[in-house]
Amino acid sequence: MTALIWFRNDLRSHDNTALHHAARFAREQQVPLRALYIATPGQWHEHATSLRQQNLIFAALNALQGTLAERGIAFDLLVADTFRDIPALLAKYADKHQLSAVFANREYLVNEMQRDDAVASRLSIPCHWHHDRLLLEPGTVLNGSDLPYKVFTPFAKAWKRTLGERDSTPLRRPRALAEAVPARSLKRFCEPADISGWPTDEEAALKQLRRFCQEQVQDYEKKRDFPAIEGTSRLGAALAIGLLSPRQCLARLRSEAELADTKSGADVWLNELIWREFYQHVAFHFPRVVKGYAFKPETENIRWNNNDRDFQAWCEGKTGFPIVDAGMRQLRETGWMHNRLRMITASFLVKDLHIDWRRGEQYFMSQLIDGEFAANNGGWQWAASTGTDAAPYFRVFNPTTQGQRFDPEGHFIRTFVPELAALDKRQVHSPPKSADYPAPIVDHKQARELAIAMFKAVQPIR
Ligand SMILES: Cc1cc2nc3c(=O)[nH]c(=O)nc-3n(C[C@H](O)[C@H](O)[C@H](O)COP(=O)(O)OP(=O)(O)OC[C@H]3O[C@@H](n4cnc5c(N)ncnc54)[C@H](O)[C@@H]3O)c2cc1C
Repeated sequence: MTALIWFRNDLRSHDNTALHHAARFAREQQVPLRALYIATPGQWHEHATSLRQQNLIFAALNALQGTLAERGIAFDLLVADTFRDIPALLAKYADKHQLSAVFANREYLVNEMQRDDAVASRLSIPCHWHHDRLLLEPGTVLNGSDLPYKVFTPFAKAWKRTLGERDSTPLRRPRALAEAVPARSLKRFCEPADISGWPTDEEAALKQLRRFCQEQVQDYEKKRDFPAIEGTSRLGAALAIGLLSPRQCLARLRSEAELADTKSGADVWLNELIWREFYQHVAFHFPRVVKGYAFKPETENIRWNNNDRDFQAWCEGKTGFPIVDAGMRQLRETGWMHNRLRMITASFLVKDLHIDWRRGEQYFMSQLIDGEFAANNGGWQWAASTGTDAAPYFRVFNPTTQGQRFDPEGHFIRTFVPELAALDKRQVHSPPKSADYPAPIVDHKQARELAIAMFKAVQPIR
């Protein structure tokens, strides 16, 4: 008999709840523990998972299997096309290795939960599902009527109250269970892509977290809105694939930085981690958002513009609005975009080009190394005024003044839009006509008015 730890988006050995319980079970039952990861290229295609994120997963698995091998845990990598193929594959694997129990960490999105239900009913052995992905799992942060929150601020208050009652100390990594087994290099399941500069193993992710909490978090509130400055943690990718856990983030934040009642950098950063939890709770409680629907049903009646040329110009960073183009080119070239620019470019697609937010949502996923469904969907629905805490529909970002405010010297724009490199800090935000750089593809004032009219037309009658 053998126990199995099935890794998904939790590619680490430290503070991994399912691994912790699997190791304890193996020790108590005196059975070997195997580890498994199932790559799903067809599912990644359906979910628009970026090639960069697939490469990060591949690199993380290579590191993880080495760590597990030292602890006597043999690692297998299987490939299924989609989640639908997993139950049969796992049943065969369970027979081959005479599995007696499976351990895994829960995921809270519709397809993932259906996959796990199908696995549990297909296997004839116990499946132990653990909560691990969030500090507080969905269902534990509810309002006075036991209903899920639809607005962030009261959610965050309740979240902090509930967290205070919980032990959120990270778990230690399991000790060796047996003699080391040979480590091996894994067979590639994706085309290569450039992921240099990103932490690809848990030690590197922890180091980056430590450095951020020691050196940068104090200034987070002041710096986080300026894309030309390295003011944020860049840990989203590590959190998305589970190289790092939110408990580790909280513990490090608590040990390095003072969490105060007043707003400090550390508190503001903690708030971002709570946004991460909020959107996963929303996706769990309101699965329509996972199935491609708006949180606000009335916005389904908006007639979007399906102009492919405008969409292409947006994707390529050729809209003629410098801050939008700089952000879109940062995304395309590096696989990451600063949060302020995600807000500006998303607003531009929806409110200036009047293109369905779902097209932008999918394009972001296809490019982002830190793509994570709930955060991306939440961010898009916020920007599009279709979501829970959404920006009111009549609030429309002006891309020029956003650029002037958040990239006042134009340093960021010049880095990603070299055609504008010679312009001064005034002109760089409203470039003169030139052969190199496109003229604005829309008139912002008119586009804004049209967007407001489009949203107004579908508002529910009160
Ligand atoms: C349109 C749009 C799309 C987005 N898509 C994603 C996405 O696919 N994946 C993703 O992780 N974040 C997404 N975000 C949220 C945010 O932009 C990124 O988390 C952040 O820019 C990542 O940089 P960082 O790791 O340096 O974050 P930091 O500023 O250091 O924040 C720390 C962590 O908190 C979490 N976080 C921060 N802000 C948010 C937020 N608003 N919502 C949810 N979680 C948050 C992330 O895990 C992040 O890594 C999106 C925001 C918008 C407006």
